[in-house]
Amino acid sequence: MNFDYDLFVIGGGSGGVRAARVAAADHGAKVGLAEESRMGGTCVIRGCVPKKLMVFASSYPAAVEEARAYGWNASAGAFDWPMFRGKLEAELDRLEGAYRKTLLNAGVTIHDCRAVLEDAHTVKLSTGETVTAKHILVATGGWPFVPEFPGSELALTSNDMFHLEKLPKRLLVVGGGYIACEFAGIFNGLGVEVTQYYRGAQILRGFDDEARGHVAEAMRARGIEIHCGTEVMEMERAGEGVKVTATDGKDRTFDAVLYATGRVPNSHGLGLEALGVKLGRRGEIVVDGHSQTAVPSIYAVGDVTDRINLTPVAIREGHAFADTVFGGKVVAADHELVASAVFTQPELGSVGLSEEEARDREPIEVYSAAFRPMRSLFAGQEERVLMKLIVSQDSRKVLGCHIVAPEAGEMIQLAAIAIKMGATKEDFDRTVAVHPTMGEELVTLRRPVRKA
Ligand code: NDP
Repeated sequence: MNFDYDLFVIGGGSGGVRAARVAAADHGAKVGLAEESRMGGTCVIRGCVPKKLMVFASSYPAAVEEARAYGWNASAGAFDWPMFRGKLEAELDRLEGAYRKTLLNAGVTIHDCRAVLEDAHTVKLSTGETVTAKHILVATGGWPFVPEFPGSELALTSNDMFHLEKLPKRLLVVGGGYIACEFAGIFNGLGVEVTQYYRGAQILRGFDDEARGHVAEAMRARGIEIHCGTEVMEMERAGEGVKVTATDGKDRTFDAVLYATGRVPNSHGLGLEALGVKLGRRGEIVVDGHSQTAVPSIYAVGDVTDRINLTPVAIREGHAFADTVFGGKVVAADHELVASAVFTQPELGSVGLSEEEARDREPIEVYSAAFRPMRSLFAGQEERVLMKLIVSQDSRKVLGCHIVAPEAGEMIQLAAIAIKMGATKEDFDRTVAVHPTMGEELVTLRRPVRKA
């Protein structure tokens, strides 16, 4: 049978774009791609990239404060949100253009429209066109989830935070995960009064407990009012603001409420189930180790499969798919020991097992140091850095590394290489320190603080 394309990709985000480019440019496949919104997907348009730029923007008042402690007669002055937002939008336009160009240079045909599946080899476009493909890749990502309750329509999501007309004076952030904590830090840094409600006992569930506690303490010390064990019951408009009734029995009014209560796979309305593609409980597309669905010609990568919802993982999955299906070499994306960073202030960088996970599996040693680094100590600041290694008592391998510090994301990237290679505690120990740095603590942790 003759198909219009060898591959048709639905979704122009990190995973879809990588798969399309590699299939076309490296393996000579005829590729079409449909994107209903902006090219680049969540990471580029409404996630990692604008978020990190906002983290940078929000870091200057603290930097100026520190500069003063170092002898500079400096003051931050006022933040020009419309100016920053304009530059941010221009940068996203530039990046979107770059993604588009990369695809076009690779020979990919771009369809700026929505696509849904009609059968195992046919896709219907919202332009009315129907196209056929030997293989179809669903890479439609995820979407913010807001629970339903009275007034939930007043909630903003992370998608909205980059386009606010003006900065709120008082912001409520609901949730305790990556997005909630990152935005709490960003808006706090920008001078907004930030309150955070989290339903559980401690924010950042799933991360190492000691690291979570360290981040929460630092966030509070920087001025974020975190209320754990608190849920919103209802919200109603109150003048320009939103009145929030919570389970702590208090009514409070905020100028804006951000719900960062997780994301759900973008799998609905694509015609998947009718074709026999299996969806999980959260709507995630169920795939095997090679990202293949229950329908052999249909594959899925990235957040829509709800494996590890991180851009670099989606990219690896997309690349492995293209190499396997079009490049003649069977490659599976590796989901072991994936490092990540939460861009709170200070950042949390993490790879491998938390202390709690590790001690449930085998006897471990815990090495941990919390200290005031040279730079902030000199400036008279109380904020401490946390460096922590979890070590197997049997194999001596470092099973986990957790860093809370400025630039922890940069540090964990490098520590992750050693850990991925199977480094033991003794390998860390025989590595000579780079002095004076914060990271040197990782190779000078002499005695375990506890064994478990
Ligand atoms: P997370 O799953 O990390 O966090 C969701 C938070 O919302 C949790 O604290 C959860 O509580 C809470 N929550 C869920 N449902 C409700 C509810 N009905 N009522 C109240 N609270 C609720 O999701 P995010 O949206 O923060 O991020 C989504 C994913 O995106 C992340 O898991 C991560 O994979 C990725 N991401 C990565 C980033 C990075 O690498 N720096 C940055 C941003 C996102 P509980 O803990 O009790 O379940």
